[in-house]
Order: sequence, then C-alpha cells, then structure tokens
Amino acid sequence: MDIFTGIYLAVLIIEMIIRAPLNKKRKQEKMSEQRVTNQEKTILGLLSLGGFFIPLIYAVTNWLDFANYRLPAWAGWLGVLLAAGTVFIFWRGHADLGLNWSPTLEIREKHELITRGIYGVIRHPMYASQWLLAIAQPLLLQNWIAGFLNLLVFIPFYLLRVKAEEQMMLDSFGAQYQEYMNKTGRVLPKM
Ligand code: SAH
Repeated sequence: MDIFTGIYLAVLIIEMIIRAPLNKKRKQEKMSEQRVTNQEKTILGLLSLGGFFIPLIYAVTNWLDFANYRLPAWAGWLGVLLAAGTVFIFWRGHADLGLNWSPTLEIREKHELITRGIYGVIRHPMYASQWLLAIAQPLLLQNWIAGFLNLLVFIPFYLLRVKAEEQMMLDSFGAQYQEYMNKTGRVLPKM
C-alpha cells in the first residue's frame, strides 16, 4: 500500500473516531421529526460503497489494479493537504453541532439551531468536508474506480440532501433559519 492510500484510510479512521462518541450518545435522543426517503437510503448505500468499501478493496487487494494511473508526487501531496482540511472541518462541524448531528434527516425533541462556530460561517461544514475528501480522493487513490466513484455519487447526494435538509430546517425553525441562511453560505463563506 502506498503512502497516499494509507493517508486516505487514516482519514476514514479519524472520522470514525470523531463520530463514535456522538453516535453512542445520540441513541438516547428522542426525535420529533424524521425525513428519510428510500431515495436517500439508496444514495447513502452507494456513498458507503464509493467512500468506504471500494477504497478498502483497492487498498487491500489487487482486483482493481487494471484501472490504476500514476500522478506526479506533488498531486498526491496536494491530496494530503485537502485531506488535512477535510479532517479539520469535519472535526469542527461535529464539535459545534454536537448532539444535533445525525446521519439522516432528523430533528430531535431538544433540537437547537446552531449558528455559532464554523456554522456561523457556512451552513454545511460536514458536507464541505465531504466535498474536499471527494476531490482529494482521485489524487490519493490513483485508480479510475476507487478514485472517482465517491465524487460521482456524492454530487447527486449533495444536491438532493442540501435541498431537503434546508426545507426541513425552514419548516422547523422558520424565520430564524431564513435569517441564518441570509448570513451564511452553503459550503463556501458568503462574500
Ligand atoms: N448539513 C450540516 C449537518 C449535517 S448532519 C453539515 O453539513 O454540517 C444532518 C443533521 O444536522 C440534520 O438532520 C439536521 O437536523 C441537523 N442540522 C443541520 N444544520 C443544523 C444547524 N445549523 N443547527 C442544528 N442542526 C442542524
């Protein structure tokens, strides 16, 4: 396994470690709203393929080697820089959102609208971090399948998810969320 593949896997492991305590604590939470469609479940399944299982197969077997390509070293290191940004934004997002985080679209009974920290700058830091990783992936996993599948699935996921999520937030928090939308950008700060 080359160093860039190792770094990609390290990012996945760090993300799991960041999420583990929240995943455990949120089991006790009561939800007041859940908007999980079959379409979303399908895309989430495909995301785990492009963002976890295929990279893992690429890393530990030679089954996908026929689709390998080679980039100059600087491209790999650019991927590492993006991966570092991924981890930082992912960590800040979880630290600021706390128990209001969920893997699907949910509002808990005690839900709090977070507009501080990194959420004061962008509304979707976790998706921003996923964008960064999906862009870093073809630089780190130099393989046409393992490198690009995540990006291919993430684009439709992002478009559908953000629209549905913002609608749910507007239905739950009304003018407060509208005002928050006016002040922040989705994944890039508002100019
Ligand atoms: N889109 C955000 C959060 C992803 S987790 C991000 O990319 O960082 C998805 C859950 O976060 C949704 O179910 C919603 O309940 C919750 N959520 C999204 N934005 C929020 C906010 N500003 N305050 C509180 N909860 C939020």
